[in-house]
Amino acid sequence: MLIILQSDVSESQVEHVLARVAELGFKAHLSRGTYRTIIGLIGDEQKISPEPLKAIPGVQDVVRVLPPYKLASREAHPQPSVVDVAGVKIGGGHLAMIAGPCAVEEPDRMDRIAEAVKAAGANIFRGGAYKPRTSPYAFQGLGEEGLKILREVGDKHGLPVVTEVMDPRCVPAVEKWADMIQIGARNMQNFVLLTEVGRTRKPVLLKRGMSATVEDLLMSAEYILSQGNSQVVLCERGVKGFDKVTRNLYDVASVAVVKGLSHLPIIVDPSHATGRPDLIPPCALAGVAVGADGVHIEVHDCPEVAKSDGPQALLPRQYAETVAQIRKLAELLGKSISTVSK
Ligand code: PEP
Ligand code: MN
Repeated sequence: MLIILQSDVSESQVEHVLARVAELGFKAHLSRGTYRTIIGLIGDEQKISPEPLKAIPGVQDVVRVLPPYKLASREAHPQPSVVDVAGVKIGGGHLAMIAGPCAVEEPDRMDRIAEAVKAAGANIFRGGAYKPRTSPYAFQGLGEEGLKILREVGDKHGLPVVTEVMDPRCVPAVEKWADMIQIGARNMQNFVLLTEVGRTRKPVLLKRGMSATVEDLLMSAEYILSQGNSQVVLCERGVKGFDKVTRNLYDVASVAVVKGLSHLPIIVDPSHATGRPDLIPPCALAGVAVGADGVHIEVHDCPEVAKSDGPQALLPRQYAETVAQIRKLAELLGKSISTVSK
């Protein structure tokens, strides 16, 4: 960390800053230039926040040298992490193909969709039992009954299952019934929830908040990792944009950015990123092309009666075509779609 002092800083202020630095347990390297005096802190800067230092009289700015996330950083873990979801590997050349309806619906329909996505090449089945809806009058999900349906259908078709948790009180139920716990965009900075899922040892799918920076996303991952749960997969699902031509703004470059900063696997969700079935296949390929470790797509056999997100759902046939294209690209890149070992 570097403390940049104001141009008119007094000698007594410099002494005061040096005393504070020593109090924090850091060594200081004082560098007096013609226009500015800079103090370099020697020690583990990730243990402290720059904020209080900025409040010391005579300090102009405090600049980090290392990222504020430690466990999520590449420095901490140069090799890419591989997350194992009940036998399905994500990362290190293994692609996750997560598919299913937005919400868990009746068992027969779930059964049909699971059968179709499995045949198409999906390796993890999804569906929300607790739905984060903008309107309190919209379908809120089937709750624990939905978790059981998802589990049964997943088991029948040999697919691990992922589902969202919104409330820390529901973590034990989701942990019990699911193979992977999803934190949705709206809860990416629900720190109580992140801590709670961090205490489990279930893999976590952490979706980027709609107004979150890449650093915010990695700091949220850090919450989970710091609780001892190392099984975190990130997900780019679009951020708020100004143009309504797509549901969100698909920040595909962020995937490559995250790859440089972190060892954690990151997948893409072109369904929520674009909200448009016609754009999902090309945007899925774009995600894999920039280095994504998997693709998350919503699939429904009859979108017009879907309980949520019907307009963005792919039909099973369209999903199968998309996976076939992803498979070709994956081969080109020396990657492969993980097989289900259950
Ligand atoms: C979902 O996966 O159905 C969902 C609600 O996604 P997001 O949190 O990215 O909006
Ligand atoms: Mn959805």
